[in-house]
Amino acid sequence: MPASDAIQSDIGAEKPKRMSPKHLRRTLYWLALDWVHLQAVFPNPPKTEGRTGKVQDYGHPAEWASAKAAEIVDMMTCWHDYLAEERSERQPRRKRMGVNNDGDDVWAYAVNHKQRIVSAWKYLEPRCEMLVALVDHDALRELPDLHYGIRRALGATTPKYTLPVPCPSNDCGLRTLVRVQGAGQDFISCDACGYTIKEVHYPFLIRLTLDAVLAEVA
Ligand SMILES: [Zn+2]
Repeated sequence: MPASDAIQSDIGAEKPKRMSPKHLRRTLYWLALDWVHLQAVFPNPPKTEGRTGKVQDYGHPAEWASAKAAEIVDMMTCWHDYLAEERSERQPRRKRMGVNNDGDDVWAYAVNHKQRIVSAWKYLEPRCEMLVALVDHDALRELPDLHYGIRRALGATTPKYTLPVPCPSNDCGLRTLVRVQGAGQDFISCDACGYTIKEVHYPFLIRLTLDAVLAEVA
């Protein structure tokens, strides 16, 4: 084969595109908070059949919220499960639910949504670099896609959500931290003193928030 063809075919074999770990990490922050937000704003939704993804396709906004909250938990648990398996670390616990018509065992995750999202987030957040190295961009893109879809809907209806944790500013300490979201913006600041959380402090804040939610009486 002429040399120019060989060069051509090298160019044709594209390297898989990688998501930046920073983008993935930020997406996980927002998805964890999306979940907290959905839980808090739309408690106890009615049971729903089927799902399509648009708020207006659901009978009640709470049905949409419940479906989206479950989608966040399932997606994050799957990535937790995948990465833990790849790294031979402890995977999310499962239990055998029975046998299907083909005689195969049917498994489900053993713990509730709250515990699953907390453990998925705590596992994945410090391992974003590992996940982006293993999985190409297109496969991981479902995470930001899910977040942006939720943000579009929540930002339009409930642009402000008060987090269940106190303001970390020493002079303040009030439970007035809000997440503000809308078109092209998403940040956490204190409604009382104006303190804005820096992104480097998000892991700590989200950990506190998830722990606060986990501690709530179900
Ligand atoms: Zn404050």
